[in-house]
Amino acid sequence: MRRNILIVSIILILATGLLASEQPYVILISFDGFRWDYPQRSITPNLDTLAIQGVSALSLQPVFPSKTFPNHYSIISGLYPEHHGIIQNDFVDPVTQKHYKVGNQDAVRNSWWYRGEAFWETAERQGVTCASYFWPGSEVDLPYRRSTYVEYYEHDRPYEKRVEGVLEWLQLPEMKRPHFITLYFDATDTEGHRHGPNSPETDAAIRRLDDTLGLLCTGLKRLNLYQQTNIIVVSDHGMAEVANDHIIRMDTILKGKKYETSGLGAFMMIDCSPETRDDIYRTLKDNALHYDVYLREEVPEAYHFSNSHLILPIVIMPHIGWAAVTNTIQPYIYKYHTHGDHGYDNFHMDMHGIFYACGPAFRNAYKTGTLQNIDIYPLLCDIFNIFPHEPIDGNLERIEQILKVK
Ligand SMILES: [Zn+2]
Repeated sequence: MRRNILIVSIILILATGLLASEQPYVILISFDGFRWDYPQRSITPNLDTLAIQGVSALSLQPVFPSKTFPNHYSIISGLYPEHHGIIQNDFVDPVTQKHYKVGNQDAVRNSWWYRGEAFWETAERQGVTCASYFWPGSEVDLPYRRSTYVEYYEHDRPYEKRVEGVLEWLQLPEMKRPHFITLYFDATDTEGHRHGPNSPETDAAIRRLDDTLGLLCTGLKRLNLYQQTNIIVVSDHGMAEVANDHIIRMDTILKGKKYETSGLGAFMMIDCSPETRDDIYRTLKDNALHYDVYLREEVPEAYHFSNSHLILPIVIMPHIGWAAVTNTIQPYIYKYHTHGDHGYDNFHMDMHGIFYACGPAFRNAYKTGTLQNIDIYPLLCDIFNIFPHEPIDGNLERIEQILKVK
């Protein structure tokens, strides 16, 4: 009996190893705030190579609001923020009063916030070993909702070290080796905020990220894995120029009224009592020179930003390049968001990011139009031939033209 169990176990282990070795490799890389048109600056030879060998999209449309965490989680879950729950980078659940905040370890690691399913969870459950070298939501505290390998976010970790880490994972014995890996770099977002999208500093960041991509490709070639690896490079959003004097003063517009704000700059929500809501909304509407304002339930359907109790009663969408502030947060916006910002209307091209992909799954030298970032999750499921979590907002039919016919 015991011998039989042993034999069955050996067969199972061999079969799993065999299955794993037949699985594709995918490295999903995020260049934070890398605007769709940055590659037109002729300073990205490695992205250019990816486009020649594989697929390049005109742009990648983010979800609204075009902020970092909502978009990374939409990319990895195939859901709009109203469904995955990460509606912005910093918000309070009005029912529980729990506070989600980027940079707060306890909050971002608390799996309670993340609805739906990240790709690594879907994939691990179906036998794909995953690894996350940084990605919003990758550090969650429940073992079955994470990748097998997770690196905790460290903003200043050198980019070369991150690439080395990924290459080390790929040298693990086949049984332990991850086949899906995420990787994240912030430089274009950081410099875009500080100096604006058209600054030499942002150009330097673009070059630095492209160099880092080159480093990864060289490493994969050295390991003889380049030909079999699918590399997908995306960004979560673009970046718009912000002028110092394009300021919307909420405390002036709503003087004497009782309300609270959430968000600042390119995106803001207003909380108020049901009794004062209509009055505040009317006042905002009467003064809406440089922004659009909606009651939560009247946000146009195309934004998919109504259907969640986390969204506050009034949603303000500043026009591109304008910043909504109050007294208390004004110094902050001057200090950090003077020259560039994102979070605006996700239909504005300045908010669009990039999508590049190459590898055995993708067509060669294929150009496509604007893609939607919620469609990346079903794309990944298709590449790995696994079942997506249901329901999702993403749709494989909108993106599958970029894949080689199987
Ligand atoms: Zn971002």
